[in-house]
Amino acid sequence: MDYQGIIEDIIKEIQPFTSHGKVADYIPEMAKVDPSKFGITIDVIDEGIYSAGDAREKFSIQSVSKVFSLTIAHSLVGESIWERVKVEPSGSPFNSLVQLEYENGIPRNPFINAGAIVIADIMLSNLPDSKASFIEFVEQISGISGLAYNENVAKSEMDSGFRNIALAYFLKSYGNLDNDVMEVLDLYFHMCALEMTCEELAKAFLFYAKHGSSIKFDTIKVTPSQVKRTNALMQTCGFYDESGEFTFTVGLPGKSGVGGGVAAIYPQRYSVAVWGPKLNKKGNSVLGMKALELLTSKSEMSIF
Ligand code: GLN
Repeated sequence: MDYQGIIEDIIKEIQPFTSHGKVADYIPEMAKVDPSKFGITIDVIDEGIYSAGDAREKFSIQSVSKVFSLTIAHSLVGESIWERVKVEPSGSPFNSLVQLEYENGIPRNPFINAGAIVIADIMLSNLPDSKASFIEFVEQISGISGLAYNENVAKSEMDSGFRNIALAYFLKSYGNLDNDVMEVLDLYFHMCALEMTCEELAKAFLFYAKHGSSIKFDTIKVTPSQVKRTNALMQTCGFYDESGEFTFTVGLPGKSGVGGGVAAIYPQRYSVAVWGPKLNKKGNSVLGMKALELLTSKSEMSIF
């Protein structure tokens, strides 16, 4: 398969869509991101890595981090995790408050904000230094070093993330947060503010594509079965109320973030990471979704 040729064609074919969408300006620091960026990397198992565009530029991974935090929390507390967060698609915006009230403070899944805030709480209760362990985990699975949080983005969210603050207090009122609300949010906002390139993100997601591999360091021991469950959740819940659309048009398990990043996997074959900062109304990258639709169409490979 000529992956390099495919991704270069994709860059040409997404041009008509570059004017669509807008950057996530509800986070003031994110409003500064250059909207014209676009990068893509495919990491093919036992073959190699193919990149095009701005694939070596760092961006804020935002909710793509929810895949990593879920993996860590699942490894720490095992199946009891599902008592505090469910595994159903939400069909609602990623920051919905109303759904949390209807469902008595148990978030629909770990990939909406409320679910990821509960996951951050589990990490804080079980790790001596959650922020350091999170970075160490991502470095271990990707084989890269020197990852860092963008402190300005984390602070910008802490200063303006009123909806997330409301969600966290709401969870606390239902008894679904054990730690101090602001400490939980500090961890949650930092994980969202991790900066990675498309190449780094693709390397990290190769771990999910190869879901047979195990990892073990300190108290974090991930089993293939846990990775399989994370992949299933990416398929059903990775794009909020656009998860059906992503499955329909792209057909891969994946996860998006409001930084414009999208990471996806073809199990046992490849991982792919795309970055285009302009988002559609559901908070997913316009160019990211289009590029991945073109990738699975052009390569004529589908998991379905
Ligand atoms: N940090 C963002 C928020 O909480 C993450 C949302 C996202 O990427 N969908 O609003």
